[in-house]
Amino acid sequence: MRASRPYIVRVFAAAVTSDPLPIRTTDHVTSLTDSAAPTARNYIDGRWVRPGAGSALDVTNPATGEVLGRVPLSGASDVDAAVSAAVRAFPGWRETPVVERARVLFRLRGLLEDHLEELARLLTRDHGKTLGEARGEIRRGIENVEHACGVPSLMMGETLEDIAAGIDCETMRQPLGVFVGITPYNFPVMIPMWFWPYAVATGNTFVLKPSEQDPLTHQRIVELAEAAGLPPGVLNVVHGDRTVVEPLLEHPDVKGVSFVGSSRVAKLIYGKAATAGKRVQALGGAKNHMVVLPDADYDRVTAVLLDSLFGSTGQRCLAGSVVVGVEEAYEPIRERFLDGARSIRLGNGLDADVDMGPVISPDHRERILGYVRRGESEGARLLLDRSGTGVADLPDGHWVGPAVFEGVTPRMALGRDEIFGPVAALTRAESLEDAVRLMHESEYGNATSIFTTSGKAAREFRYRAGISMIGVNVGVAAPMAFFPFGGSRNSFFGDLKAQGRDAIEFYTDRRVVISRW
Ligand code: NAD
Repeated sequence: MRASRPYIVRVFAAAVTSDPLPIRTTDHVTSLTDSAAPTARNYIDGRWVRPGAGSALDVTNPATGEVLGRVPLSGASDVDAAVSAAVRAFPGWRETPVVERARVLFRLRGLLEDHLEELARLLTRDHGKTLGEARGEIRRGIENVEHACGVPSLMMGETLEDIAAGIDCETMRQPLGVFVGITPYNFPVMIPMWFWPYAVATGNTFVLKPSEQDPLTHQRIVELAEAAGLPPGVLNVVHGDRTVVEPLLEHPDVKGVSFVGSSRVAKLIYGKAATAGKRVQALGGAKNHMVVLPDADYDRVTAVLLDSLFGSTGQRCLAGSVVVGVEEAYEPIRERFLDGARSIRLGNGLDADVDMGPVISPDHRERILGYVRRGESEGARLLLDRSGTGVADLPDGHWVGPAVFEGVTPRMALGRDEIFGPVAALTRAESLEDAVRLMHESEYGNATSIFTTSGKAAREFRYRAGISMIGVNVGVAAPMAFFPFGGSRNSFFGDLKAQGRDAIEFYTDRRVVISRW
């Protein structure tokens, strides 16, 4: 039985004004008989198929609480069907000339541009982030497709004549087969695109397991990839939660795994997939320090800090979390930051005058509020508490307003754990060295930023930080698609990172040929 106005139909009807493509809008969304909400389908071998298992979870709009659809919980047989389809598609796709593979991505890039606004609205409804943030995320995803379009150059090998008398040597990059992507909820469009465009550009085939919390927008991207000419079986999607991950990690035909999520799970995935003999890159969580020196421009820095800590409602792995004011920088930054945090407007991300949307789920909201409750008992001072702020007319949204603490130390849960919400910790350091020491007490090493007008201090900071992504007068140190993305310490397990040249390395093996004629 089909629901009266399935989610995809409703959203697409509202969001699409002129659709240049004969895109199917309903056949991958169907209803289970036990629910009025439409259920997403898996995408296997170029078809939208119902998983073998019958259970499903609700996917809600975090701003309204409305059930948008349901996500099926696939099982081992669905994994096997997807991996088998990817295995079958591999030889033909590998033999497809690299320029033709790139052309599919060129077409996809055009379609993503054409549909950017529609995708942004879908993303805001699925995830809750503001429309501006959603546009930014999609733009970042497109940039990865653009970069992967350069695969004919990126995949080139090297040659050297006369490595010995009359003997030449050459290297070439070859795809390996089937790769798997397991991705988090906070960037449900962009993060899958850190992976599968590069994997398929280099001639591999792919199975994506998106986050079960907001998997619907990426369905639309898969439709666009199909419309761009990606052959059946090259990209497959299997929905589900943690239970579907195990069979993906253990499947003998899977050659490698790209993972992004919390550090606990990243470490687990790294261990299991590596034990099963697969390549793994596993990106984990973060606790990012923002260090402000006394020579910084406080007004400009404060605006950047507010965006870093409260953008996407704090649900970014690059979000600032601890603001470290060095010496006399502390007081002016503290006052400006509090003023800014007081004026942040919460609401539905689709509304133009909203600064901050909801968090993903009621459970996540409770987790964040738990940190706010615990902060004072640990000895931190709560300077501003808007965490309980609601939004008029949207009583079922998962709202958490900004909370700001000071006197936070790395031993407190507030200073140690990744909260992944709009909770700021302010701390004073006596020197740049002291600030770096504070940072080094964290188990994480994803990103950090310094704000200064001194090139010498900035150089010293980047030399000593020991952290993978460093911002200098930049609050969100997000490398572009052609640079590597990923952390160190407990923020990353593996060696080759996402994006950039690393992506080409990860998805190919370098074969060396030595010839004498
Ligand atoms: P999560 O770890 O809960 O889930 C990530 C993925 O793993 C999902 O697809 C989920 O279904 C699956 N999963 C969850 N538990 C599992 C288990 N026990 N075994 C196997 N699979 C499991 O993460 P999330 O809450 O979706 O996303 C937020 C986290 O992701 C934050 O920690 C954030 O810092 C991190 N993140 C990191 C980066 C980065 O670049 N380092 C980028 C974005 C998000």
